Amino acid sequence: MGQSIVVVAEARNGKLRQVSLEALHLVRAARTSPDDRICAVLVGHSLAEAAERLRACVDGTTYVVDDARLAAYNPEAYAAAVRSALGGERPDFVALGHTALGRDLAPALAAWLDAGQLSDVVALEGAGDALAYVRPLYAGKLLETRRFAPGAAARVVTVRPSNLPPAEPLASPGRLEAVVYAPPDDLRAVVKDVIRQAAGRLDLTEARIIVSGGRGVRSADGFKPLRELAAVLGAAVGASRAACDAGYCEYALQIGQTGKVVTPELYIACGISGAIQHLAGMSRSRVIVAINKDPEAPIFKVADYGIVGDLFEIVPLLTEEFKKLLA
Ligand code: FAD
Repeated sequence: MGQSIVVVAEARNGKLRQVSLEALHLVRAARTSPDDRICAVLVGHSLAEAAERLRACVDGTTYVVDDARLAAYNPEAYAAAVRSALGGERPDFVALGHTALGRDLAPALAAWLDAGQLSDVVALEGAGDALAYVRPLYAGKLLETRRFAPGAAARVVTVRPSNLPPAEPLASPGRLEAVVYAPPDDLRAVVKDVIRQAAGRLDLTEARIIVSGGRGVRSADGFKPLRELAAVLGAAVGASRAACDAGYCEYALQIGQTGKVVTPELYIACGISGAIQHLAGMSRSRVIVAINKDPEAPIFKVADYGIVGDLFEIVPLLTEEFKKLLA
């Protein structure tokens, strides 16, 4: 009998998060035998579209726990929903996105399964029994490669968004199964309301392009040209901690060791010096462009392209040129 492998997927605003397909890529690589069964669990509310997209990539069953009471993430309720979706089966392997939800839920599932957990995986080496997981340490200064001990009872892995390729749809995917949610009797917390600072903003951790501002933008208004460039590129806007501390933007935009970790295809750093704590959050971006008036700024050491100059002159020029190119 093969392993029972489960991806705990995530939806946001009714859409499947890309990282769930990346977790699915990981579990496909973790298969050790054709008898291994991969299934998925999706918990939340208004999940029809996300569930269909997920199902298309899963060969086993996709369990969907869709209930208005699960619209906001609640650790106890979500863990209970995952357990009940699996109908008492204890999986051998669980993978989730290394998102705010995944980081919270994974240890609860690992405790339930008495499993070892590897978090924040950014790359894989080998496959099957020989599969090894690469993860950053010390704010990205080092990468370590880990394997689970042979015969480990159960394993839980979280995957950093935008590092592994997403799983492709299958020719003959499995079926969807709707699971009725029964809230646990002993729920200790109930989420009454979630107040979002900005609706409809692109998620930084999954953005393909990020235009990011630092102390060099000088004011909240200084972010305006960055937002204009981002709008033309379909990019998200990020920031350094100094820009957040100075009140130029909200902390939700902070990238770095104590902010969000991002891996876009293109990261445009404007007026950011390149402190190690900022690099910890963005140095794995595929292409880094730095705009800084100080030619000695450390950001130029990690940048693929550097522009020495005043961001208030350069960013509007870029916006105009991209407008023409993308028209
Ligand atoms: P500065 O270092 O002040 O750099 C501003 C840059 O803008 C300069 O290089 C300057 O030449 C340039 N500039 C100024 N005007 C212009 C202009 N008109 N045009 C072009 N360039 C211009 N930081 C983070 O970002 N994220 C974190 O998560 C984070 N976590 C931290 C955790 C700890 C425990 C500590 C101690 C620090 C942390 N920091 C973090 C702070 C970090 O050390 C730096 O202080 C911060 O990243 C600096 O931000 P900055 O580059 O915007 O500002």
